[in-house]
Amino acid sequence: MPFTSLGLSPSLLIALSDQKYQAPFPIQIQAIPAILNRKDVLGIAPTGSGKTAGYVLPILMNLQGNTSTKNRHVNVLVLVPTRELSVQVGEVFNIFSKYLPQKIKTMAVYGGVSINPQLMGMQGVNVLVATPGRLLELIDSNAVHLSQIDTLVLDEADKMLNLGFAEEMNKIFALLPIKRQNLLFSATLSDDVNNINQVLLRKPLVIKIEEEILNINLISQIGYFVSEENKGPLLRYLIRQKNIKQVLVFASSVYKADNISDKLRKNGIDAMAIHSKKSQGARTEALSKFKSGKLRVLVATDLMARGIDIKNLPHVINYELPRSPKDYIHRIGRTGRAESPGEAISFISPDDQHHFKIIQKKMGKWVTMIDSEGIDLF
Ligand code: AMP
Repeated sequence: MPFTSLGLSPSLLIALSDQKYQAPFPIQIQAIPAILNRKDVLGIAPTGSGKTAGYVLPILMNLQGNTSTKNRHVNVLVLVPTRELSVQVGEVFNIFSKYLPQKIKTMAVYGGVSINPQLMGMQGVNVLVATPGRLLELIDSNAVHLSQIDTLVLDEADKMLNLGFAEEMNKIFALLPIKRQNLLFSATLSDDVNNINQVLLRKPLVIKIEEEILNINLISQIGYFVSEENKGPLLRYLIRQKNIKQVLVFASSVYKADNISDKLRKNGIDAMAIHSKKSQGARTEALSKFKSGKLRVLVATDLMARGIDIKNLPHVINYELPRSPKDYIHRIGRTGRAESPGEAISFISPDDQHHFKIIQKKMGKWVTMIDSEGIDLF
């Protein structure tokens, strides 16, 4: 089914074609017409299924000619669990709203940064993407009012509940007008998520998208036997020799991630690290540069990489192995989709050899190994 059959406006069809979205993803086929018809939706879909555009596009269309006239009264509220997701969702709204005849202003707010610019920026906002805690602070400061909300979106509701936002979410729900559209997205349908569904949604369209089964065979995997002290030189050698333009490198700790990216930069290779000890500004900058292809190497810890939507990468390098085979598969799954096969490289020090055997056994696939002793690294 093409995008043209979903009821979207010509300007959004142009936006989709500019964004190289050729055909709608399954969740979009179902969600877009339902949201355009102002129905409630419960979407059970893994990250990466395309749910963001699935709600952003119809919401933007519904807003055309229907924005609030009162200042600081937002029309659409999207609640998200993390700062990263807030920024990402805000970007998707901005990308598509640029094409619309009527200007729609989106603002992404989240904690951990100064509230002042957010307070000032609330003038004329139509779509607010927010983490619950910061939203409540903004409400307390009278910077934003929720009484004219037409549409509420809960994105990654399961994560919000895991992170303990239930109480704050309930406070927010109590401030919303009774008549509104509710859209709830979650990777899993846990009891907690189902409880919110029962309270919030009215006869929702339920959309269930199964996790895409990763085809390990599409990923070319290589292991390098390498001593701990030669990992840095081997990394530089591979980036140069394979002329790698974009690679996500996994490190086991914050300290290591910084160390790896510092060394790359000292050797003239553009790299940045992303981890929990970096400021929000630094994280956002690193991520957006990497996604737009302006940063060659992003060095990440597992925790950071999990929450951020970067996939379809040509290269992933395990500078250090993750502890669990599941994490290994998750890491390498960021490369090697049907349309663009990728390469996953793992550095195996003598201490890692046993662990790597266990990973391969669990994965059910043996990885081709190369001994770096035979390579002239210097
Ligand atoms: P999401 O699950 O919303 O985080 O989306 C995952 C990724 O898929 C994002 O990078 C989107 O830009 C991309 N995407 C979403 N819908 C489409 C589509 N119909 N065609 C191509 N890419 C898409």
